[in-house]
Amino acid sequence: MDLQHWLGRATDAIQEWADTFGPYRTHPSLEVDDDRLAAVFEDFTGRLKDNYPFFHPRYAGQMLKPPHLAAVVGYLTAMLINPNNHALDGGPATAAMEREVVAQLAAMFGYDTHLGHLTTSGTIANLEALFVARELHPGRGIAYSEDAHYTHGRMCHVLGMTGHPVHTDSRGRMDLDALEDVLGSGEIGTVVVTTGTTGLGAVDPVHEVLPVAERHGVRVHVDAAYGGFFTLLVGADGPEGLPPGPWLAIARCDSVVVDPHKHGLQPYGCGAVLFRDPEVGRFYLHDSPYTYFTSTELHLGEISLECSRAGAAAAALWLTFRLLPPTPDGLGRVLAAGRRAAVRWAELIAVSEHLELYQQPELDIVSYFPTVEPAALSGIDAASARILADGMAGPDPVFLSTFRASREAFAVRHPKVGADADGARILRSVLMKPESEDAVEHLHARVEQLAQS
Ligand SMILES: *Cc1c(COP(=O)(O)O)cnc(C)c1O
Repeated sequence: MDLQHWLGRATDAIQEWADTFGPYRTHPSLEVDDDRLAAVFEDFTGRLKDNYPFFHPRYAGQMLKPPHLAAVVGYLTAMLINPNNHALDGGPATAAMEREVVAQLAAMFGYDTHLGHLTTSGTIANLEALFVARELHPGRGIAYSEDAHYTHGRMCHVLGMTGHPVHTDSRGRMDLDALEDVLGSGEIGTVVVTTGTTGLGAVDPVHEVLPVAERHGVRVHVDAAYGGFFTLLVGADGPEGLPPGPWLAIARCDSVVVDPHKHGLQPYGCGAVLFRDPEVGRFYLHDSPYTYFTSTELHLGEISLECSRAGAAAAALWLTFRLLPPTPDGLGRVLAAGRRAAVRWAELIAVSEHLELYQQPELDIVSYFPTVEPAALSGIDAASARILADGMAGPDPVFLSTFRASREAFAVRHPKVGADADGARILRSVLMKPESEDAVEHLHARVEQLAQS
């Protein structure tokens, strides 16, 4: 895919449409001289070099990568019109595209019925799910695992609800006995399960949480912001295949959030929330004197908390899904490569003298730490921080990230490591680019080398 060619096609297509409305003059106040732009652009692109190479297989750090070129073309083309998906009056075409991609996401999770929309982020998508949770169970709180995304606690605060962290097991998954205790208090209205925690990629046992929640009359919301698209690997043969239990159970949960701007190849500004029962739309009801006027059909703004949203985000996802649909043969192949990379790296670390796995990766996040003598938290912390810094300096760089593990979390996984501190930073690599698969051997060799120096 040649980006230059397609951006040319994009401007041509929009210009052709614009021309049908007749000529007009751009106001002089908006005129920008090409020479001036050239100078400023030089400065601009120079400043952008202060970045990490998220696109490169050398970058094996945080949850970051550039969008697919189809998403870039979709976004930029629609942005030339700049529709606002708040209302059908703001952009009928991209509002229709949004409905279609949301339906594809609902189908991916096995929802028979749904009400949903795109959001600016996973945080806002979860906020909406918790808002609906509050409206359905006024006065009751939210339970989520200790390893759930930090924004659940924050959004409970925003919504005036009480958040109840639930203990996790030795693999970072919600502990069922601990959940039973918390639900037994009768104070919980909704439990949030995470299919793919942001730190370690742990998958809560959704299929086992559901019957417990049901017994207590509690709703279940799935935070699949990071992990949602991994549902496409259920039943895959090969090392990338995932156990179906938690993923198939999402279809029976009340709501789910997924971030196309994480594993859906999209630029930032694209989250999604889906409710299984379309009736919850009633909680969003409001009237607006200045937005809804051309249609009696439901506007997206009537079922979302945000007002303005980029129609271009829906366009980008729509174009991407037409080429790489959220199916095992489409986007699934992209995720499979990253998952295989994680499995392979974990195998290499497991037999390494210089590195140790913190825990087995469930998705595409590998967590590990350098072996130090004596084996103690303070030494692991210092060595991890040094490897992170040394890795980015000098020739043959490698870009990793760190994760802070508590003393307790370390103890259940590695009881022999001396607990001489509150916790330790370990190393964490999110292998979300399919190109990581070819780079794993080299990444491993380089990190081993750093661990020994
Ligand atoms: C990233 C993430 C969020 C927050 O989403 P943003 O799009 O960053 O706002 C919430 N939950 C989980 C599990 C995440 O990985």
